[in-house]
Amino acid sequence: MKTVGREIMWNLPHLAAVVMYSLLGVVIFVFAWGLYERIRVYRTGRAEREDRLDDLWARTLDVLKIGLGQQKVLERKIGGLMHLAIYSAFIVLFVATCLVAVEYDLGIRILDGPFYIAFKLFANTFGLLLLAGVLVALVRRAVFRPKGLTADGDDHLQLLLIGAVGATGFLVEAVRIAATRPAAAPVSYVSNAIAPFFEGTPLDHLLSLHQGLWWTHLLLAFGFLASIPFSKMFHLGAGPVTIFLRTSRPKGALQPVPNIEEEEKPGVVDVEDFSWKQLLSSDACTRCGRCQDECPAFAAEMALSPRDVVLKTREQMSRDLFSRLVPSAADLDKKTGKPVTPAFTSGVLIPDEIWACTTCRACMEACPVLIEHIDMIVDVRRGYVAGARIPDSARTALRKMGDTGNPWGLPQDDRILWAAGLAVPLASDRKEFEYLYWVGCAGAYDPRNQKVTRTIVSLLNRAGVDFAILGLEEMCCGESARRLGEEGLFQLGMVEAVREVFSSYNVKKVITQCPHCFNTFRNEYPQFGVNVEVLHHSVFLRDLIAQGRIVPSRPINRLVAFHDSCYLGRHNDLYDAPRSALQAVPGITVNEPLQSRERGFCCGAGGGGMWLEVPGKRINHIRFDQLMRTGANATGSSCPYCLTMFDDAIKFHNLEDSVQAKDIAEYIAESL
Ligand code: SF4
Ligand code: SF4
Repeated sequence: MKTVGREIMWNLPHLAAVVMYSLLGVVIFVFAWGLYERIRVYRTGRAEREDRLDDLWARTLDVLKIGLGQQKVLERKIGGLMHLAIYSAFIVLFVATCLVAVEYDLGIRILDGPFYIAFKLFANTFGLLLLAGVLVALVRRAVFRPKGLTADGDDHLQLLLIGAVGATGFLVEAVRIAATRPAAAPVSYVSNAIAPFFEGTPLDHLLSLHQGLWWTHLLLAFGFLASIPFSKMFHLGAGPVTIFLRTSRPKGALQPVPNIEEEEKPGVVDVEDFSWKQLLSSDACTRCGRCQDECPAFAAEMALSPRDVVLKTREQMSRDLFSRLVPSAADLDKKTGKPVTPAFTSGVLIPDEIWACTTCRACMEACPVLIEHIDMIVDVRRGYVAGARIPDSARTALRKMGDTGNPWGLPQDDRILWAAGLAVPLASDRKEFEYLYWVGCAGAYDPRNQKVTRTIVSLLNRAGVDFAILGLEEMCCGESARRLGEEGLFQLGMVEAVREVFSSYNVKKVITQCPHCFNTFRNEYPQFGVNVEVLHHSVFLRDLIAQGRIVPSRPINRLVAFHDSCYLGRHNDLYDAPRSALQAVPGITVNEPLQSRERGFCCGAGGGGMWLEVPGKRINHIRFDQLMRTGANATGSSCPYCLTMFDDAIKFHNLEDSVQAKDIAEYIAESL
């Protein structure tokens, strides 16, 4: 006899257990079949292009921290706590059910005495959390309707199913308490509070009601389990696996296409051109919409939602599966009667959504299951480029890069015009030098950024830095070409040319003016065996100031809104260096916009955005407004693209007389 506890399968005929386990067999079969089908679909994807099984320990820790520990989920308060409530209840109630099964099937007495009391308290508390979580999720979708959250049939069905499983669990227990009035009833505090509603009901009615509710609870729970591989709930399994298989590349590096000369399909045309890992990741999507909430292109009402790129991939990949399951649900060819699948990159994805991406990484930073949106988008761009299906603006920029070696399309002879009248050491003259100052195409050709280039050179000269520039030997590093999907031009054109010139001067250390060049040299050239130490000018200037080699002393009374370049910040975690350099200038007050650092908002020029014309609002105007809302009368950034974008916004608003956009190097130079 148990001291405190309850009889398992109380009020149920012996046959109930037989039926229950037979049904469980069906559930396991359906689940296994669904799982097999999903794996079969993933296997239609191409082979992975990188090792996703290195450093198994670090990967396991990430699953524990980000997956089981919900680290990224909890970065958002309401959605995070809601998810945590449902998720933790899931685990606790699953374990509780397993304990009941172990006691019933193996005859091991577990649920007795104090353990039973703790068990019941836990089960009631987490059951309550489950219902609270489901309620919050439903209310958010029905009342507040945040843009990022999907609210279709699958979302509602799964939430209602989970809620119904929890509610019927409490009701079964409440009716049992009403019928038997056990001494331990108060520990089942939720069911015990419901039990009085059944007071006065005749016992035989209570017994029948209990049986009816028990079967309803069982069928709902089994139905939920069997539906997992066919619903969004599959993220429960695909999420941790996606986290485990996360890339170990540096954040700023795109996945290279190996053997680019021989690769017939460098990009994605059909959904199967994604790798199996990318297909699997699309199943990991929880539809939380955080990627969309952070996306500057979405905010600018462009066609892009990173969430939808992932969900469209999932939908296309699942078409085959569901058309086999429910043939009537598929679009049928009128002639053959066979299911038709719309073309993926032209029918399902819209080119405008793919070209709208600035590769700012905000989506990836936000995603709780580490989906790699940028690689997916760039892979589709690679497919467009290989099939010559690119917008005119991208075509023009790529043609200029190929023809003249810079996206401005200006002659190579003009690359050094900015240096007229300035003492700039040339690598060809110096032969040996400590730092190569890589000016970059924007710094060399864009009139506004030429001024920044001259400023940086004067600062380097003033600090006595041993440096040289390549002058006419410099060319484009290929960053925009790669992000526009022209992997061949990048690898075979730019990387090879840079490799040659770096080795001819035995270059070991490079200072870049542009965060895009910085990121490419730092994170992408090593993929091709070109390894140099790379410093962005903001870091280098911060260090020169710290060493006392340049001393900003003249006060500059300005309120400067600081803007994080995506390729310095999110792609390279360099947030403090440019701020420190700016704050070293006396008189300057640095204003932080609401969206800064990891959640900084892109200026709109990355990912080839500088060259593209995509329908929608101007991202740079949105960002400029955010900066001005801080009450600033100037912007501070350390990227030539950002500077161009803010200059454009200032001109658009006719604010040239009251607002200045400057590189941090210019504020420092002004203060000397
Ligand atoms: S990288 Fe930036 S622009 Fe591209 S989808 Fe992600 S958030 Fe949007
Ligand atoms: S891709 Fe990631 S961030 Fe976007 S909706 Fe899916 S899970 Fe959420």
